[in-house]
Order: sequence, then C-alpha cells, then structure tokens
Amino acid sequence: MTANYAIALHGGAGVDPARDYREVEDHLADLIARCADKMGAGLSAIDAVEWAVSELEASGLYVAGRGSAPNDRGFVECDAAIMDGASGKAGGVCALQEVANPVRAARLVLDETPFVLLAGDGARRFALDHGCARVGDAAAHYRLPVGVEQEDLSRLDPGLVHGTVGAVALDGNGRLAAATSTGGLLGKQAGRVGDTPITGIGNWADCKVAISCTGIGESFIHAGGARDVTARMAYGGQTLEQAAAGMLDAVAARGGDGGLIALDYTGRCVMPFNSPGMKRAFARAGEEPIVAIL
Ligand code: ASP
Repeated sequence: MTANYAIALHGGAGVDPARDYREVEDHLADLIARCADKMGAGLSAIDAVEWAVSELEASGLYVAGRGSAPNDRGFVECDAAIMDGASGKAGGVCALQEVANPVRAARLVLDETPFVLLAGDGARRFALDHGCARVGDAAAHYRLPVGVEQEDLSRLDPGLVHGTVGAVALDGNGRLAAATSTGGLLGKQAGRVGDTPITGIGNWADCKVAISCTGIGESFIHAGGARDVTARMAYGGQTLEQAAAGMLDAVAARGGDGGLIALDYTGRCVMPFNSPGMKRAFARAGEEPIVAIL
C-alpha cells in the first residue's frame, strides 16, 4: 500500500438544480473509489489523471469525450491537456475530431513529441497514427450529457450546462499531475478553442500544485487561469484557498463563471466554484471519499 496519495475529479462547472444528477453522482462515487484503489496500489499521478479523465470521457455523462455536443456546424471538436508536475512536461490537443479519448492524444503529445499543443487535422492524424481509438459512427457514439436536452443546443445557457472533466493527483512519491478534457461550450462556433488545452490556463501541474479548471474559457484566459493561482501563491504570499478564490473573482470580473480543483504537494485540496454547482469528487489515503454537485 502507498501511504500518501490524494486525487480530485471534476465533471464540470454548472448544475441545473431542476435536473436529476443521480447517475452522475453514482458515477463519480464509483470512479473516485476506483481511483483511490489504484493510487493506493501505487499508480503514478500522471497515469492516474489520464486514466480518470479517460473514464470520465468514456462515460458520456459530461461535456467531454463521448458526452461532447456538436458545434454550430454540427460536428464535435474536443480539447484536452495533461501535465506532469515532476518533469514539468505538458501535452495537449485542440479542435480535435474523430478521436474517442482526447486525453490519450494529449498524453501522446507529452510522451512522444517535443511539442505542447497540436491542433485540428494535425492533431487528429497524430492521434490516429499513434493508435488512438477512432469514433466510427458519430451519431451512435456521442450522447448528450446529463442535464443537457437537444433543445439546449439552440437556446443555450452555458452557465448551467458546461461540463468539462478534469483530474488532479498526488502520488505516494510526492508527484503531482493534472489532466482536463472538454467538448467545449455547447453550440460553440466551429474552430473555437477555450482554456482547457492551453497549459497554464485550464490545466497546470508543477512540483507544488496541480490545477484543473472548468467554466467559460474566454474569461479564464482573460483572468490568467491556473498560472494566476500559482502566481498569487508564489509572489503574493496567498494560500491555495485565497489564490483560487482570487482567480475566480477575476473570472467573474471578466463576465464568466466556473470553478477549479487544486491539490498541493501536502495533499491539501480546494474545489471552489462561482457557477451554479460543480460536479466534483475527492479521495485521500485513509479517508472516506467525498462526492458533491451543488
Ligand atoms: N472551459 C471549457 C471551455 O471554455 C468549458 C467548460 O469548462 O465547461 O471550453
């Protein structure tokens, strides 16, 4: 058994209180327990966040992977990023079509290339050439995520229904990692890319903290995102709680909302949000896992 580990997941900012999220809560409870088992057995932080995010993507319950909704031209484009805090290496993909598990493609960018971000058709070709599973029949593969109805796609309230997924982990060797994946905002303009695949904005890990964000990507980019949280701690002397809250205030000041999960090298975790709810879960060695929506 590995003595010390911690892992947090999110299934996206935004919850419509009128809708039934029991399937999501059950899924998060089951997944966080399986994450805890794997990390207790010694899984590394980087492998844990990739595995957890691919499970979230494959579930179809969130706006990521299988739950991604079509853009304004009727096709799905996904963004994802992953970062290994120990090595300082990151990988990402954006505007990616046809690939079932975008986080796998991001991990391949990290492992197999000297680059940080691959886009569009180049990302698609790279991922498929490296063995990523292809989405054959899009109509059969994708499902609208929980809380999203077909009519939402034409009368959007992104504040209620955005649903990026993410994971941050600290393993028994003290290594941190973060991964984030999204189908983007519902009904987004074709080609639009948000904060998620941009290392330092929607996703970040170093040797002190790992962060995964969710919310209105443009506002997170304007506010500085994950690196603004680390800067507030490093140069402003703020605690993790203060830094995360301060960055979310800056997101709100720029007209957006959302949340983040952040885990530091001591296993301390914060999961603040200023959106109406955020699907989230947390497990730490020796403690009962937590799952919450509102
Ligand atoms: N941040 C994502 C984006 O702007 C959306 C989300 O988190 O729900 O693409």
